Amino acid sequence: MKIKILLIEDNPQNRYLVTFLLEQAGHEVFQAETGLQGLEMAARIHPDLILLDIQLPGMDGHTVARRLKASPQLCSIPIVAVTSYAMVGDRERCLAAGAEGYIEKPINPESFVAEIGRFVRSPYQDAPHETHFDC
Ligand code: MN
Repeated sequence: MKIKILLIEDNPQNRYLVTFLLEQAGHEVFQAETGLQGLEMAARIHPDLILLDIQLPGMDGHTVARRLKASPQLCSIPIVAVTSYAMVGDRERCLAAGAEGYIEKPINPESFVAEIGRFVRSPYQDAPHETHFDC
């Protein structure tokens, strides 16, 4: 099944790498470079998953996550924070802001697709693990 993934990431190299890996796995990728653009695109395309950089110019990823989760139309879309903040407590901050998952940069090309796959709701899986879609 082709899944729609919205990637919100300001760094062109990261966008390129993530998009390459996901498209190679057969997924459809939509790119946004800022939080605001990401919010607009999420409302328009209603993706199956949102990959969210935390360090973004203007509106940061925590704010983007909170806004997505505050929207009745968008709150059920799983969010995976992808961040290079390797600080104690950052994972908790991302999860508190509403992200269902958290992946640290640098991205590992060998495992990235499988890692984010755990957060995608698929009709072919009995039950997604590590996720809750209630909001
Ligand atoms: Mn960034």
